[in-house]
Amino acid sequence: MNVLDGRKVANDLLDNLKNEVATLQSQSISPKLVVILVGNNPASLSYIKQKRKACEKTGILWEQINYEESVTNEELIEKIHELNKRNDIHGILVQLPLPDHIFAPDVIKAIDPKKDVDGFTAYNIGKMFLSTDFEDLPPCTPAGIIKMLDYYDIDVAGMDATIVGASNIVGKPLSTMLLNRGATPTTCHIRTKDLKAHTAQADLVCVAVGKRNLITADMVKENVILVDVGCNKDENGKLCGDADFKNIAKKARYITPVPGGVGPMTVACLMENTVKAAKKLHSS
Ligand code: NAD
Repeated sequence: MNVLDGRKVANDLLDNLKNEVATLQSQSISPKLVVILVGNNPASLSYIKQKRKACEKTGILWEQINYEESVTNEELIEKIHELNKRNDIHGILVQLPLPDHIFAPDVIKAIDPKKDVDGFTAYNIGKMFLSTDFEDLPPCTPAGIIKMLDYYDIDVAGMDATIVGASNIVGKPLSTMLLNRGATPTTCHIRTKDLKAHTAQADLVCVAVGKRNLITADMVKENVILVDVGCNKDENGKLCGDADFKNIAKKARYITPVPGGVGPMTVACLMENTVKAAKKLHSS
């Protein structure tokens, strides 16, 4: 069994990006990310802190815009339009979730796809269906998973891959990215009739649901590669994933831990997307 060390892979990626940012700065291009935060959801504050730290580490400039919970759709969209026009900004991120009275798809839609470093706009998601050549600004979590598999020379071509969870930001784009690389993906969700039937035959299982111990050792085959995206708290309040790490690790070929697996890769890919966006905006 091998643990896929997301912290190490992410740190390597951030080191490379730091050099790239320094080169860009020497050409008077200073990659900059703007994060919009509505309210003060503790999970959002913690994610923002990690993103800010990664910016500091790479030299990417950071700007944070805070709004009260009472902000309206229109105010957010107006601000995004203003940020779209600013030449000093290369990445715009709206921290999710947004309060219930805000219609998040409309807010996301307002972001210029060229500055959509989260990779959530329909334009960036849609392009990914064409092929790997069109994955310019992919959603950061699936991109981080692919990068981690690549780092460990895990070639998914020909693999049966079961993705558990079909969200627009993880499960669905991950299925597409695996398909683009020659895997045979099956995407499971809350309405899937027999989850175990799908996980038990898979060479690669990726789980992104948010339910502790959803995937147990009897649900996966010997030598499985297991990628755990889930973020949950255990009975002691410690962060844990969706899979029973301890028991699956005994039979897995590779497994990602939580924490220290997919999470740091997501943040590192956000930095990579910001640098990519800066380069592209300046070259056009
Ligand atoms: P979501 O909450 O939007 O959707 C959950 C998905 O799981 C849905 O498709 C639903 O149908 C499916 N599902 C629910 N119960 C199920 C069950 N019993 N069997 C099979 N499928 C089931 O998902 P999300 O936003 O992708 O988040 C999923 C998890 O991943 C959460 O714990 C979230 O915190 C975590 N997450 C982590 C990162 C990271 O960087 N580590 C990034 C994004 C999300």
